[in-house]
Amino acid sequence: QTVFIPKEIDPSEPRVAASPDTVKRMKALGLDVVVEAGAGLSSRIPDSEFTKMGAAIGSVADGEHADVVLKVRRPSDDEIRGYKSGALVIATMDPYGKQAEVEAMASAGISAFAMEFMPRITRAQVMDVLSSQANLAGYQAVVDAAAVYERALPMMMTAAGTVPAAKVFVMGAGVAGLQAIATARRMGAIVTATDVRPAAKEQVASLGAKFVAVEDDEFKAAETAGGYAKEMSKAYQEKQAAMVADHVAKQDIVITTALIPGRPAPKLVSAAMVASMKPGSVIVDLAVERGGNVEGAVADAVITLDNGVTIVGHTNVAGRIAASASLLYARNLYAFLESMVDKTSKTVVVNPEDELVKATLLTHGGSVVHANFAPAAP
Ligand code: NAD
Repeated sequence: QTVFIPKEIDPSEPRVAASPDTVKRMKALGLDVVVEAGAGLSSRIPDSEFTKMGAAIGSVADGEHADVVLKVRRPSDDEIRGYKSGALVIATMDPYGKQAEVEAMASAGISAFAMEFMPRITRAQVMDVLSSQANLAGYQAVVDAAAVYERALPMMMTAAGTVPAAKVFVMGAGVAGLQAIATARRMGAIVTATDVRPAAKEQVASLGAKFVAVEDDEFKAAETAGGYAKEMSKAYQEKQAAMVADHVAKQDIVITTALIPGRPAPKLVSAAMVASMKPGSVIVDLAVERGGNVEGAVADAVITLDNGVTIVGHTNVAGRIAASASLLYARNLYAFLESMVDKTSKTVVVNPEDELVKATLLTHGGSVVHANFAPAAP
C-alpha cells in the first residue's frame, strides 16, 4: 500500500506531515511512501532527505494511487478530487462549521480522520497533535514577545549599570501556557501565571512561577472530567477581571493562551487594561485565531498602539517554528497510522470499534460517521 504526503496548498502553512524519520518507519512497516516534490522545503527538509529514507518523490498526480494521504490541513475540494475512493486521509480537519466540506469528503468515499479529536488518554499521548503543536507555540510566543520587546528579559548587572528583569504574566496554563512559563523562566524573566483550573496551580509552581488567581469555590470545581476548563460564571469573570487589571498594569509582557473547548476564547484583557500598561510593553495573544483573549488583538497582525503597547496576533504560531513542528506532527500521525497497520498483512485496516478510530473518524464508506457531524437519525 502507498502513503502519499502532498505539499500543503495553503501558502500560510509551512508544515509537512512526514519527516525523514517517519518515512523510515513507514517503510519498515512495509508501506510505500511518495512525497510530493518540495513538500518539506518550508520545514527545512529537502527532497533528498526523504529519498535517503526510501521515499519516492512524486507530484500531485500521485495522490490518485494513494491508499493513505497524510496532511497538515483538511484537503480542499480540488485535492479531494485527486484521491481515490476508499483512501484514508489523516489531517487536522477543523470540521466545526464546515459541514459542506465534511460531506464532500464523505461523498468522495474518503475515510477522513480528524487528528485534533484524538482522546487524551495514555495510549494516544504520542498521537496528540494539539499538545505537540501547542507546546511549540508556547515557546514561540515568548520568542516573538522577546523579539519586539526591545529590552532584555533577564536581569543584567554590568559595569554600566543594571537592567531589571522583565515581568512576564502568562494567562492560561495549559500545554502552551506551561511551555511559555518555562521558556520565559529560562530567559530570566520574573514569571507569574493564572488559570481557572485548580490543577494548574501546582504545575505553575513546579516551573518556578508564581500562581495568581481568584481561588473561590467555583475555581475549586472548574475542571471538567476531560481536564479542560469550563466557561466561568459572570460573577467569577468580574472578580477575575479586577484581579487581572491590577496585575497586568505592572507587567512588561503578557502572554494569553486561554481556551475553552467548543466556545469562543474568553476575553481576559480589556482595552482599559491594555491602556494601563507601560509604553514598550508587549502582549502576545495565542488565542487570536479563536476570537482572542485580548481586546484589540488582530489576527495576523502586530499592532503598536498610541500608548506604545504592542499586541502580537500571529496565527498558526506552531508554523512559525515549522522545522520542529513538522517533526513532532509527523511523529503524531505516524503513531496513529502504525496503530492501524496489520503487522501480518502489512495493510492499513480501519477498525471502527477502536476507540481512537471512533473518536477521530469523520467520514467512512460514503457517509459522515462522526457523532458530532452525522445527520440526526430519522
Ligand atoms: P486549552 O488549550 O483548551 O486551554 C488553555 C488553558 O486556558 C487551559 O489550561 C484552561 O484551563 C485555560 N483557561 C480557560 N479559560 C480560562 C480563563 N477564563 N482564565 C484563565 N485561564 C483559562 O488547554 P490544553 O492546553 O489543551 O490543556 C488542557 C488540560 O488538558 C490541561 O490540564 C493539560 O495538562 C491536559 N492535557 C492532558 C493530556 C493527556 O493526558 N494526554 C494531553 C494534553 C493536555
